[in-house]
Amino acid sequence: MNFKKIILIIILLAIIVGAGFFMLKGRSKKQEANNDKIKVVSSNFASYDFLRAIIGDNDNVELTFLLGPGKDAHSYDPTAQDLITIQNADIFVYIGGEMEKWSDKVLEAVGDKKSKIICIADDIDTIEEKEVDGAEEEEEHEHEEEHEEGAFDEHIWTSPKNAIKMVEVLEKTMEEIDNNNAEKYKKNSEKYIAEIKNIDKQIQNIVDNKKRYRLVFGDKMPMQYFIDYYNLKVSAAFNGCSTETEPSASTIAYLEKKVKEENIPVVLYVELNPGRVAKTIATEVGNGCEAMQIQALHNITLDDFKNGETWVSLMTRNLEVLKKALQ
Ligand SMILES: [Zn+2]
Repeated sequence: MNFKKIILIIILLAIIVGAGFFMLKGRSKKQEANNDKIKVVSSNFASYDFLRAIIGDNDNVELTFLLGPGKDAHSYDPTAQDLITIQNADIFVYIGGEMEKWSDKVLEAVGDKKSKIICIADDIDTIEEKEVDGAEEEEEHEHEEEHEEGAFDEHIWTSPKNAIKMVEVLEKTMEEIDNNNAEKYKKNSEKYIAEIKNIDKQIQNIVDNKKRYRLVFGDKMPMQYFIDYYNLKVSAAFNGCSTETEPSASTIAYLEKKVKEENIPVVLYVELNPGRVAKTIATEVGNGCEAMQIQALHNITLDDFKNGETWVSLMTRNLEVLKKALQ
């Protein structure tokens, strides 16, 4: 081996050892920094999005979206890692109800600790789950026992009024836990509330100029708060977020009749869903009737999440859909 080669090997070794050293150092530094951060965890997308807007560029806060994009909020079950994440949180925000039934046992497991546990639905005027016109009857006797007496509709985030209330509550929570940044949180939340009010105004404008007031979902219908807020009527294949996906022939026939009778141009289906039933109904009705996707904001797709879409930007997508459906 010549001298040059030996030097080269020594240099290479030095680089490898050096890189390893810096990686370790970097990691432990990062870990330290992570431990110092205020940890905020949200179970669902809407609260996550509102918190993200309120926190803004404040990098001493670490925000976690527990459910994660692309998943069905109703079939989510926390993993062992999720439990640790909740356990270590300074703030944990959830909705509860039938949708997040797991929260009972999780909170029990977490026990008495100093973190703030926020059931965001407590601050909302919730409504009971309604029977939607046209919806498939559930296998009542089996389900009746599972449904708690007076179970509330968990899809609180669908009305702008509730969304604003949620932002306000979450902003106060952030202020309480991190008072040094109170002004920042206030400013950020005011900005976001203005955006929500702006989209509300645009939707209201469409509703004010409507030709018809009925939305038809060839799908489940998790938007009752939205429907009530804008004084609309609704028909759907399934109540709320029924786990059923196959409506009976009579349910489909009923919705088709409704669409024809009221000259409804659009049959809706919600995100994270192929819209098969809505497409079938639209095709059967013909006459230019089409199936369109509406963002119920139950969750966000992975692509939309990567693109940084928000409650406001997704709701903005609904403008064209609502215009087409109502005008
Ligand atoms: Zn749901």
